[in-house]
Amino acid sequence: MTQQKSEQEKRSQWNYEHLSEVLEEVKKEGYDKVALQGPDGIKDELINYADKLRDNGIEPVMIGASTFGACGIADEKAERMGADALIHVGHTRFLHPEGADMDDFNVYYLPYREDRDLMGVLEEHYEEIEEDTVGLVGVTQYMDRAEKAREFLEEKGFEVVEGKTGLRTTEPGQVLGCDAGAAHNIAEKVEAFVFLGSGHFHPSQVSETGEKVYVVDPYEEYIWVEPPNSLDDETQAEHARVIKHKNKKKWGIVTSSKKGQNYQRAVQIAKEKLEEHGKDVYVFVEDRIFEPDYKGYGIDIYVNCACPRMTKDWQDLAFVSVDSLKVLDEVEINHD
Ligand code: SF4
Repeated sequence: MTQQKSEQEKRSQWNYEHLSEVLEEVKKEGYDKVALQGPDGIKDELINYADKLRDNGIEPVMIGASTFGACGIADEKAERMGADALIHVGHTRFLHPEGADMDDFNVYYLPYREDRDLMGVLEEHYEEIEEDTVGLVGVTQYMDRAEKAREFLEEKGFEVVEGKTGLRTTEPGQVLGCDAGAAHNIAEKVEAFVFLGSGHFHPSQVSETGEKVYVVDPYEEYIWVEPPNSLDDETQAEHARVIKHKNKKKWGIVTSSKKGQNYQRAVQIAKEKLEEHGKDVYVFVEDRIFEPDYKGYGIDIYVNCACPRMTKDWQDLAFVSVDSLKVLDEVEINHD
């Protein structure tokens, strides 16, 4: 077994494909109260799972708020309710990018796999892929078919570079909104990426590798192309927001109390950079981060040290990434 494979197995520990497998484990451990958590869109399924737990003599506890990723495991809420374990439905296990412990509570991860004809789309449209050597990446919902897709592409004469995990992910080739490391890790070896999934958000992260991304989209039912570096405009817009507020004295930093979105090191880096430029810095923490909560403090610009996906979402206040603060080094600042 190669070192990479054993690391892979270690990382995917706690990921399951079927509730029956989780039930087996839960019964083996003798747990009698188990919490259930999942995203919007599969809440009816969570109720079915609760019924199945009860049928097996296990008391379910429902976590009310929906979840956007396994970064937000509700371990504290489950523990407070006296549950022995948590079943997190919808996502694979998430690794904290700053190394914080995500394993101090029993969590079973049951990723949601989208039942759409992904392979049909690939089989019908693969000839649109012009390059010979490709990297195969995608979102959790379709990664159960990654091996099949790889075999198909190889049969058709493509060289498919073996996928790796990213910083936060546990399935090879898997991409999150906050982690396209799986693509960056093999970018030098490929001429383009084949992406399993839909929407622009994840493919645009992959395009930051500088490569073209062929999106095998089971919603649109064809393969479309995300051009290389398609996030450049957004990055420019973020830099413009920093420049617009460069003379403001008060700056906020926002992080989340969600376990996988609590980025203390990022907070420290942002704080030091802002203080270096003479700013008064206020650090805020909240579970879910909504723009209206940050109005009224007399602060117009906040640095996002939580889910990076939120950076472009705010409308009235400016919300920028830690990375964009480097722009402050290049401009003249006046606090008079
Ligand atoms: S993009 Fe945001 S919500 Fe999704 S896994 Fe990353 S931190 Fe969590």
